[in-house]
Amino acid sequence: PSSSSFKHAIVVGLGISGMAAVRLLKSQGYRVTGMDERAGETGAPELFERFIPMICPDTLLEADLIILSPGFDPNRPELKKARLKKIPIIGEMALGLRQLKTPLVAITGTNGKSTVTELIGAMLTASGKKVFTGGNLGLPLCDFVLQGCPADIAILEVSSFQLDTLESFTPDVAVLLNISPDHLDRYPDMAAYTASKARIFKDMKKGIAVLNHGDSQVRAIGEKLPLTIHWYDRENAGIAIREKNLILENGKVLDLSNFPLPGRHNLENLAAAMLAAKAAGATEKGMENAIENFQGLEHRMTPAGSIHGIACYDDSKATNMDAVCRALSAFNREVVLIMGGRDKGGDYKTMEESVRSHARALILMGEASDTIEQALGHMVPCIRAKNMDDAVKKAVQNADAQTPILLSPACSSFDMFRNYKERGMQFREAVARLATEEVLP
Ligand code: ADP
Repeated sequence: PSSSSFKHAIVVGLGISGMAAVRLLKSQGYRVTGMDERAGETGAPELFERFIPMICPDTLLEADLIILSPGFDPNRPELKKARLKKIPIIGEMALGLRQLKTPLVAITGTNGKSTVTELIGAMLTASGKKVFTGGNLGLPLCDFVLQGCPADIAILEVSSFQLDTLESFTPDVAVLLNISPDHLDRYPDMAAYTASKARIFKDMKKGIAVLNHGDSQVRAIGEKLPLTIHWYDRENAGIAIREKNLILENGKVLDLSNFPLPGRHNLENLAAAMLAAKAAGATEKGMENAIENFQGLEHRMTPAGSIHGIACYDDSKATNMDAVCRALSAFNREVVLIMGGRDKGGDYKTMEESVRSHARALILMGEASDTIEQALGHMVPCIRAKNMDDAVKKAVQNADAQTPILLSPACSSFDMFRNYKERGMQFREAVARLATEEVLP
């Protein structure tokens, strides 16, 4: 056949997941056009028939299939014509799911997805299963599929943007952790964001749902679901949380006073992971082993060294307000909080109570500084910093050995950094530099 008889896919947004989609499409014989308004370089020009450095509505009409990056809003006007012409517009994850051959556990929620995904993976691995963990973290699903699905089970972190661009979605186990304001720069309101999260269950006719009873939004979704539900953070049915213990369904008490991940939210994460892992075939022993060895992920309340006795914590992954409030409540004393970055459209006033009770001072950096100070400046000193070095210096000037420094920004990092990892690394480097200075700033 001539090359033009091959199906034509257009991939919009050539980041990590977009490129994974391109590779899978090529292996399926598609002709691929790439579109990306940011980059001029794709890194692998041989994969593309064409690269267009903008989103071109008329060229999109030439596609048989359009793959949309999670970073690209599906409601953008450039897609209108293609939609009218009924060209399928799906995400990279949806493309991978078409060929997934393993059972599937899917995890969504505003916060804790990556932690719970890794916990479930560790529990199943320790139970003797070969596991793939990926999706929104780590390897994109298309890469796993391209390798021929080499695992017994896939554990997939799913963001709300990915849920928005799925086709039929029928995980064997689906987990909804919590819902709090996030991404309100993209969704018109909380109702739309919540509806997006609930889409994880949209096509499930069987299978198991794992849900947080302690979260009123999640509870409301669960109460309407025609599925087998395993609840956590619920007394007398499911897993309950009391102090540092989990009370399991069989009444067994799991003492977690030595679990290294701080805060009640991490007990919630553990409970969710145990219910999901068990539903997917983990053994009790495997789960206990995994819990004993789990160290948590980087940039999530990670100890980041100390400066002359002042402890520092890197929670750079906290890109919304609830994650910051949870981080603050994990301390039983005041902290100096470094916040700011690119605003995501929430109301910082929802943090008032947490900030009042836990923050001695706010060190503000990035685009959101004014907005944060307007919302919280009446109750706590706000100090401006021009970069990470400056922020850590000013934090030290306001901290002492009893008052740790916490980087927990409540904002995305893209105004000043490549991503949350780079932000966290710069924080640690700044801490390390100041730690070697003999005299504090
Ligand atoms: P996600 O993948 O959903 O972003 P992560 O596990 O990467 O979740 O954690 C992101 C941020 O949220 C971190 O700052 C972490 O400390 C915080 N966090 C983790 N679990 C929870 C939870 N259950 N509720 C609230 N915040 C959480």
